[in-house]
Amino acid sequence: MYPDLKDKAILVTGSTRGIGRAIAKRLLAEGAIVGVHGRNHDRVEVVCRELHSSRTVAVSGDLGDEGAAESVVSSFHTATERLDGVVNNAGGGKAVAFRGLTPQKWQDTFRVNLEAAVQVCQAAYPIMRRQKQGCIVNMASIAAHGPGKWMGADYAASKAGLVSLTKSLAFEAARLGIRVNAISPGLVETDMTEFLPADMRKSLNIPMGRFAVPEEVASVAAFLLSEASGYIAGQVLHVDGGLFMGNA
Ligand code: NAD
Repeated sequence: MYPDLKDKAILVTGSTRGIGRAIAKRLLAEGAIVGVHGRNHDRVEVVCRELHSSRTVAVSGDLGDEGAAESVVSSFHTATERLDGVVNNAGGGKAVAFRGLTPQKWQDTFRVNLEAAVQVCQAAYPIMRRQKQGCIVNMASIAAHGPGKWMGADYAASKAGLVSLTKSLAFEAARLGIRVNAISPGLVETDMTEFLPADMRKSLNIPMGRFAVPEEVASVAAFLLSEASGYIAGQVLHVDGGLFMGNA
């Protein structure tokens, strides 16, 4: 569907499952060379085999660890000698009410959801500058645009930071041929949303009446990485079945 993605080298963080895995699968179907990343190297190797493609590059590293983001980017770049795209997808959190939010939990959530993404961007940026082209897609959330109803204040604030990073970096990088955009999914059927009980799911009143499947987010990521979105920079695309229309 996006022929220009063929042979592009694209790193997808947190792609052993859920949305990241669906993005990796979609990009492989487009003919890209995909960096499949996760915390555990053996697990990453298993996923690469499951994806049935010789175009995967296994990359591992816990993004909560100091220096991991830089080494994830550099090992993918060393293997492919290019870096056309990065999807900062790794992230998540555990829902907790504000009264139970500890300084440690706040820090841990920000470490992976925001700081690691900043460091991945900082490692990718000079490479993309040299190439005079590149695309970065940051996986934000509907939580960034309103109250952290389901995931708590730490998660919402970290994703709001990621939206802000997207815009600031896009502003600086656009003239260098580097496009930076974000996706804000609503609720997607993955391990992360498994905990939501059926009655709560019903009460969400999603206009489209259902959660997204990961492939519906993956197709938007492919669009933002492709030339089909060649004049889009610093934008946040909501993939949320109409849940947030600026009035949530
Ligand atoms: P998931 O839990 O299924 O997958 C998250 C991925 O990130 C996993 O591969 C995990 O291993 C990886 N990851 C987490 N912490 C990591 C760390 N410290 N180091 C390396 N990898 C790490 O969740 P998902 O639903 O697929 O979420 C993917 C992204 O989409 C996340 O950033 C999440 O915040 C965002 N998101 C999800 C939803 C949803 O409803 N599922 C909604 C909005 C945004």
